Amino acid sequence: MRVHLLYSEEIGLERYDSLLDLLQTIKGTIQFVKQRDQGVELRAEGLGFMERKGSKKRHDFHSSTDLPSVSWETLFNVCRTFRQQNDIGENEFVVLLTDYANELNWFSAPDLSGARNMFVQTSGWGVFAHGEWRFPVVYQIVTNLLRHFMARNLEEMEDIVHPESIGCMNDFNRDKRGIQYKLRTADICSACAQRINVHVSDKNIVRQVIAYMDLVRTHMLFRSRFTFTKQPSSLCISRNGQEIKFTDMGDTLFELAPLNRAVFLFFLKHPEGVVLNDLVDHQVELRRIYQNLNPNKDQEAVRTTIENLVQPGTGGITESLTRIKRAFVLAVGADIAEYYYISGRRNEPYRIGLDREWVHWE
Ligand SMILES: [Zn+2]
Repeated sequence: MRVHLLYSEEIGLERYDSLLDLLQTIKGTIQFVKQRDQGVELRAEGLGFMERKGSKKRHDFHSSTDLPSVSWETLFNVCRTFRQQNDIGENEFVVLLTDYANELNWFSAPDLSGARNMFVQTSGWGVFAHGEWRFPVVYQIVTNLLRHFMARNLEEMEDIVHPESIGCMNDFNRDKRGIQYKLRTADICSACAQRINVHVSDKNIVRQVIAYMDLVRTHMLFRSRFTFTKQPSSLCISRNGQEIKFTDMGDTLFELAPLNRAVFLFFLKHPEGVVLNDLVDHQVELRRIYQNLNPNKDQEAVRTTIENLVQPGTGGITESLTRIKRAFVLAVGADIAEYYYISGRRNEPYRIGLDREWVHWE
């Protein structure tokens, strides 16, 4: 079952990619399809719309109030147009992710016309600690998929929703704080379980949704325990460096572009650290790591890329370090990320702080 994941442009490719890392950690019947094109452009239509006409001021998507908002109709029209233009079959899902709020202020909603469309709001999750916005979003996506089979129209939808919080996926939460409760329980009440039994014939879908709920729960618990254990997750490096996983966070995949991945693996192998200007002396090793990650890449091209990377004064390595740091912060939040990214002072060795006891090579 294919699920096409669209995003509106204010989300940006980095956040979109880090959400996909989490979604692609669990393989199965539900397959999330990445959109390579640019994000969809939306225009604010109401509510917290603070931008004056003609003003170039960017919307503040980090504020939990006054978020610019759009109508449900607009959001679902984006999904419908995408379906039409790309000839998407009616059995496939189209999900639009957006930082915009919506007219009814829901966190997510299915297309009540019956088509397999939905939107999920990716902003305003400030009550969750940093880096955690992905968990409620993943939870919203997968439970909405399941709910689609449980309720075929608005009437049935009203029927399955619990007005009081009982820790079930179908609790109706008025605020984002309430959602934390059901994310932590990762539960489905017996009435809803029964309904799933009757209405969802493909049990693989049910199993995969539950695996996602468990993954989110594992992450939430890990994060909240980290505040007092201060123990980072182990890293597992496998498939010749092609795959990096956070072992204690449900084996969540961590993606980096090949060159940044090569830089990260290089520093991981040098616990003592390396002064950035001295990287020119390590070109052979860097080339080997990078070539391993890109076996089909021409040797000359590999040589040039690494030369450009390590050449002092070009900013190549600084740029790479910045991207690696951003990717970790997006994946695990700023406090945990400190253990994994490469940092240091000018003219002193740059290094990864993580105790190598927590790194497993397979
Ligand atoms: Zn329930």
